[in-house]
Amino acid sequence: MIDLVEQIVQHQLEASVQELGQPKFRAKQLRDWIVQQRVDSFEEMTNLPKALREKLAESARIWTTTIAKHTTADDGTEKLLVQLQDGGRIECVLLRDGERRTICISSQVGCAMGCVFCASGLDGVDRNLTSGEIAEQMLRLQMLLPAGERLSHIVVMGMGEPLANVDRLLPALNFASAEDGLGISARRITISTVGLPPAIDKLSKLDTRFHLAVSLHAPNDELRTQIVPVNKNIGIQKILDAADHYFDVSGRRLTFEYVLLSELNDRPEHALQLARLLKGRPALLNVIPYNPVPGLPYATPTVQAQQRFREILESHGITVKFRHRKGDKINAACGQLRRLSKENLVPLDGAISP
Ligand code: SAH
Repeated sequence: MIDLVEQIVQHQLEASVQELGQPKFRAKQLRDWIVQQRVDSFEEMTNLPKALREKLAESARIWTTTIAKHTTADDGTEKLLVQLQDGGRIECVLLRDGERRTICISSQVGCAMGCVFCASGLDGVDRNLTSGEIAEQMLRLQMLLPAGERLSHIVVMGMGEPLANVDRLLPALNFASAEDGLGISARRITISTVGLPPAIDKLSKLDTRFHLAVSLHAPNDELRTQIVPVNKNIGIQKILDAADHYFDVSGRRLTFEYVLLSELNDRPEHALQLARLLKGRPALLNVIPYNPVPGLPYATPTVQAQQRFREILESHGITVKFRHRKGDKINAACGQLRRLSKENLVPLDGAISP
């Protein structure tokens, strides 16, 4: 079986089309139908001869995944529960904000990082997604838009640690930024990482131009290791060094993310330490007040605590942005995507297509 999205992402579609005894330009047509025209079946590909459409229906497929569930929230956020061919399930999200059409995609089935406040790691990691599976999320979410609308931003902030799967992630992101792919500028594509220095160095070496966001969550190693256990063998300094180097070679301003957890990392001394740590960097600090995860003992800081945290950082010249919550009514907000959550164990016969 020829998996067309994987072939597109790996630049192998022409070769496969030729193996089917077809001229090369058929690859371009196929690609155009799937990526630009957003069709769902071979029958709709009206400029392909009927015999070829039938042949394709036998030997190739557009999707390796199915949509197990599609949820829409009042604020326009939509979440897809995507079923993989081996039965694994992942989630991805479309967010609407003014003119922006941002998608949040997953990179792994589950996550191995074990951040104590995040739902995605609660059941551990099952496997890496393939490049095709990552790109299929983009195309599936694109199909939720009316024909005249385009995806404008991608954040790799769904399930998984993207830099633990960097070799499969990059072909999918290159497809997203390519002119004959989704045409989304690399600066509008964000890789959010717990901070894995060798993989960040790889991005520097490959001269990728994607935007990098580092999930910091604590201003010192003792606290960070408590909240983000993988920090134990890494340490904040190595992450900052790798991130600074990425900034030097890519010219992309860095973002640091900080989930604000009541009484744990939101006190004035934490804000002060954080200000010292980030001082001098042309970086943005993205603060995300904790989104509750059922069963976890953490709390969202009060508005006063959030305000106090912001003021201390701003008074030290740090650029701070609070990320307002979107999609939390349908458990689609940061940290709420979970591999084995009860609501995701819906039977497949309830499946609907976008
Ligand atoms: N593994 C990557 C990407 C996935 S998480 C990373 O660590 O960056 C995307 C962002 O959501 C991260 O900054 C993460 O720390 C944050 N997040 C996770 N759980 C959260 C929660 N319960 N509330 C708010 N933000 C959360």
